[in-house]
Amino acid sequence: MLLSKSEIERYQRQLLVDGWNQERLKSARVLVVGVGGLGGISATYLAAAGVGHLRLCDSDRVELSNLNRQILFTTADVGAPKAALAAKRLSAQNPEIKIEAIADTLTETNSGELALGCDLIIDGLDNHSDRLRLNEASYDLDIPFVYGAINEWQGQVSFFHPPKTACLACIMPKELPGPKPTPVFGALPGVIGPLQATLALRYLMTGVDPISNSLIIFRADTMAFETVTFERRPGCGVCGKTM
Ligand SMILES: [Zn+2]
Repeated sequence: MLLSKSEIERYQRQLLVDGWNQERLKSARVLVVGVGGLGGISATYLAAAGVGHLRLCDSDRVELSNLNRQILFTTADVGAPKAALAAKRLSAQNPEIKIEAIADTLTETNSGELALGCDLIIDGLDNHSDRLRLNEASYDLDIPFVYGAINEWQGQVSFFHPPKTACLACIMPKELPGPKPTPVFGALPGVIGPLQATLALRYLMTGVDPISNSLIIFRADTMAFETVTFERRPGCGVCGKTM
């Protein structure tokens, strides 16, 4: 897949990066589920880097209380649909790529259609039960997903692609207890979202997942990163079927 003159100029600084593979990014298709704090920021970096086809899925509308962390949106956007707005903003950022907006949530029945032809799924969700649904879809469709979650002062990232790795249900099989709505330190998606984008871009260019069976945890109160390793769980209700 050849790059146009304007693409070569747009991506000039990253084309200089050792091992960079712009053609692979251009031919990639990624589903971003949720375009709020995490998904909006990771999708911005995927668009800017030239991932050829982004499918943005979110059924929500912008609320005033989103704006401490969802930097794709402005006060004037309150009440507008997030997926269409995100697609408009990211298309303006990079008109070279194809962006689809889908005003829907991921369910058991539509996941195959939403993820059709995708190489990777980005988790931009805001609750664990929806993530468990995404985890099942990822397993059923054999499409890896980049997990990201934030809660108060803590954020975490991982990559799931069973049976090569454990799945989310191996390590966190149930909805986690905690206050609703989830408390969120607004800058935290700005740490975790780009980590998800970095992992995604690395995977799309190389096919390698550098944090297999590891959870990277960042705590904003101590500014400490920690990596916790895990393994597949034989009794897992999702990926345990193939063990
Ligand atoms: Zn599992």
